Amino acid sequence: MREIRTIGIPRGLMAYRDGVLWKEFFERLGFVCAVSPKSDRELLGKGTACAVDETCLPFKMYLGHVIWLIGKCDVIFIPRMGGYDTREKMCTRYEALPDLVRNIFRDEQIRVLTVSYDWYTKTTEEKVYLELGALLGKSKKETKKAYGHARKRQEAWLKVKEREQDHALEGGKIKVLLAGHPYVLHDAYMGGELARILRKMDVEVIYTDYADREGALRKSYDLSRVMPWLINREITGALFMLRRKVDGIILVSAYPCGPDALVNDMLVRKLKDIPVLSLTLDAQSGTAGVETRMESFIDIIRYQKAGGYGNKDR
Ligand code: SF4
Repeated sequence: MREIRTIGIPRGLMAYRDGVLWKEFFERLGFVCAVSPKSDRELLGKGTACAVDETCLPFKMYLGHVIWLIGKCDVIFIPRMGGYDTREKMCTRYEALPDLVRNIFRDEQIRVLTVSYDWYTKTTEEKVYLELGALLGKSKKETKKAYGHARKRQEAWLKVKEREQDHALEGGKIKVLLAGHPYVLHDAYMGGELARILRKMDVEVIYTDYADREGALRKSYDLSRVMPWLINREITGALFMLRRKVDGIILVSAYPCGPDALVNDMLVRKLKDIPVLSLTLDAQSGTAGVETRMESFIDIIRYQKAGGYGNKDR
């Protein structure tokens, strides 16, 4: 077996949530990380060409990132994420992710490095990383140390984001909360474009994933005891933690996302006292055509703030 020196990390899906931890963990163990570049139309085109039509836009984009990494690293890191808990699970695409990628690129015979976050075995994150370290031929002691550093680095990164966001919430600009999966909100081709449009209109952009994650998860149980998906829980909880601090909410989804279709419908019905815009991005048009809708949405917020529509205290 070829020696592993460089580990490829596709800049997509959960890399936007846990990527700091992954990169720090591998680098602490002495590996070099190759991270694919920011998303663009070309990467999406390549990913779409090898995906079946029914798969969601973020998965098509992810495949584009995998293609970019082929030939640039010794192995591509693609974790299998089920969940840590019997109640909080991941969308099924995450459970099958390494198998889907291996199968799609069977002719290229790419080497996948994978590990399972699997609730059936009641695992913990540390156990998962110990297993990953063993797969890479590292001792328990050095893996534990690398994981400890990586976890701290990830937490520090999120704290900085939370602090910056708290500061932005105190400013005088119109504030709009972008609510969605981190890999949709922060992908340069998807949510990145929405943020650019909002900033052009002098709007402060606030994100659901830059809120206290554990607090958001707890808060989500006030709304639903049965919602199964961990990330939709974090989005829902953060949204209800932040709703009174912002002037409007944009629910951002990527077509066709089953969890978002169910959860966002419930959210629209619950959010009666604040302007809400629901946007669904798809592989054909991306963000084209949403600019006019966003402009109208911001006009409504400005009008309401100026006392229109019998504005009342929220
Ligand atoms: S949660 Fe939705 S957007 Fe995310 S991988 Fe699943 S189907 Fe795709």
